[in-house]
Amino acid sequence: MSREMLLLQVCCPYCRTPLTEGNRVHLEAYVRDTNQDGKVYLSALFGDAAVDTDLEIPEGAVAEFRCHSCDQSLMLQVPCRLCGAPMASINIKSGGVLEFCSRRGCRGHALGGFGDVDQMMSLVNSMFNTPHD
Ligand SMILES: [Zn+2]
Ligand SMILES: [Zn+2]
Repeated sequence: MSREMLLLQVCCPYCRTPLTEGNRVHLEAYVRDTNQDGKVYLSALFGDAAVDTDLEIPEGAVAEFRCHSCDQSLMLQVPCRLCGAPMASINIKSGGVLEFCSRRGCRGHALGGFGDVDQMMSLVNSMFNTPHD
């Protein structure tokens, strides 16, 4: 499977603006720990924890994510099952919802970073409608 196959096409659950730009997901975030607000680019590659931002987000800090277009909060009232930080949620264009942890350094911070490889592959396969045997 090529890396392009694992590129997640996501959009805002509120205004439907596509959030995937190239191989990154463009979000706005507020970091309480450092009181900074600005752009955060998460990797759009499935399970890739890379983050690109000008903000100072110390390892372990929690960011509050928003849509860069409509400014709606993407945060859920759901705690991460790995670290207890609030979860954020964005929509997958082809259908479905992607939740990710708002804490930097948590394994759940990567898009699709939860679960094991089998679960990831079945989600990827369902996204691309390719049968998996
Ligand atoms: Zn929006
Ligand atoms: Zn977490």
